[in-house]
Amino acid sequence: MKRALIIGGGFAGCAAAHQLSLIGGWNIDLVERAPFLGGGVKTHWRGGHPFTFGPRHFLTPSDALFDYLNAIVPMRKLDHEFITYVEKDRNFYSFPIHEDDLPRMPERDDIHREIAEAQEIRGWKDARNFEEYWRASVGDTLYHKMVDGYSCKMWQVDSNAELDDFGWSPKGVPIKSGSREGWDTAISAYPLAADGYDRYFQVATAEVNVKTGTEIERFDIPNKRVQIAGDWHSYDLIVSTISPDTLMNNAFGELPFVGRDFITIVLPVEFAFPDKTYFVYYAGAEPYTRIVEYKKFTQHKAPSTLLGIEIPSFSNRLYPLPIKKHIARAYQYFDAMPEGVVSMGRAGSYKYIDIDDLILQAMTFAKELDAGGLSHPVPVYGADQSAPSLLTKTMVDEGVVPDGRSD
Ligand SMILES: Cc1cc2nc3c(=O)[nH]c(=O)nc-3n(C[C@H](O)[C@H](O)[C@H](O)COP(=O)(O)OP(=O)(O)OC[C@H]3O[C@@H](n4cnc5c(N)ncnc54)[C@H](O)[C@@H]3O)c2cc1C
Repeated sequence: MKRALIIGGGFAGCAAAHQLSLIGGWNIDLVERAPFLGGGVKTHWRGGHPFTFGPRHFLTPSDALFDYLNAIVPMRKLDHEFITYVEKDRNFYSFPIHEDDLPRMPERDDIHREIAEAQEIRGWKDARNFEEYWRASVGDTLYHKMVDGYSCKMWQVDSNAELDDFGWSPKGVPIKSGSREGWDTAISAYPLAADGYDRYFQVATAEVNVKTGTEIERFDIPNKRVQIAGDWHSYDLIVSTISPDTLMNNAFGELPFVGRDFITIVLPVEFAFPDKTYFVYYAGAEPYTRIVEYKKFTQHKAPSTLLGIEIPSFSNRLYPLPIKKHIARAYQYFDAMPEGVVSMGRAGSYKYIDIDDLILQAMTFAKELDAGGLSHPVPVYGADQSAPSLLTKTMVDEGVVPDGRSD
């Protein structure tokens, strides 16, 4: 039997393990440094409250992806709003920016005039970077109030003009009207089980030799070998979900990332945030970007509540920077990977992607492999998120995918 290695047991590694086992015919090892699977999506507990590292709700425009995950960890769809605190105004506003908030802003007359001018010129079409895009879309006042400080803090840059790869930001006029619920095109959902997505990690790796608490010490990717506990192991296929610079021994230099420090706080109130508010962004000089109230996602019942605070730092590697020169370097690594080496996941693709994208990458990779060849080390899928799942109804009926409902 051919041997496959999956490096990293975060969501991407588990999704790849699942899809590869569904193909069949592979003896799969999955090696994860931490003592558990799931990475930041694993559920932890404090004072009886379940929480993950950051919000981690499942956001997707794709019914097929929702159905895939929902078959393993049944989820409930969420109805929530995103708000941002602006200290200067001593006020909370919706994000994406909502037109009904504009009359509450002290500089409303300037803002309306700047939006009208910006839309007449439509300079956002030619924007070369994130700052130009936003200033040309909504004018300077709204940009500085809602976007500038938050984004510089989020990416730890001095100026948003440095962010020159911003395909993920909304195009056109990024001001909403009507419903205040986040991004209309997406399904937003969270598992019903108290332990969140944890059952997914077990189910996805049920047919795999999982080694948690085990670090890959050295990499010899040209020869598809890795060193674990002093011994070298060779593989026919390597699926890496760690940053390509680490995988390739920094051959082309380091890839920068921003990380997060994370603090939890238990409060003596049943709920801290208003009904539809699951988390709050902070747009100003606060050291944190976001505070999450976990009960809103988990539906945990308790007289107290748990908040999680995310503080940008460089103590871990969570956010690849949307800057072209760094992305070009990541592609140097991808282009140097030999046949039979695949790189996926957020760090692995050096791309700011979410859980639904990781699943889709795994599905695309497995489908291509099953069809006889991989088109690129980083699985490429369409903007419509259209790669079909290898998960068949039969697998669910046969009990390979247990019911994840937890009472
Ligand atoms: C704070 C935060 C909040 C987020 N919120 C959401 C959200 O609400 N919704 C959403 O869809 N997405 C969200 N995301 C994005 C999404 O959750 C991540 O993209 C995803 O979890 C990344 O999974 P991964 O497997 O690619 O990476 P990771 O989870 O980082 O997995 C890589 C694994 O490799 C292991 N590893 C590293 N080096 C080695 C080694 N040498 N040997 C063995 N193992 C190694 C690591 O321990 C790690 O577990 C969020 C991300 C962050 C950072």
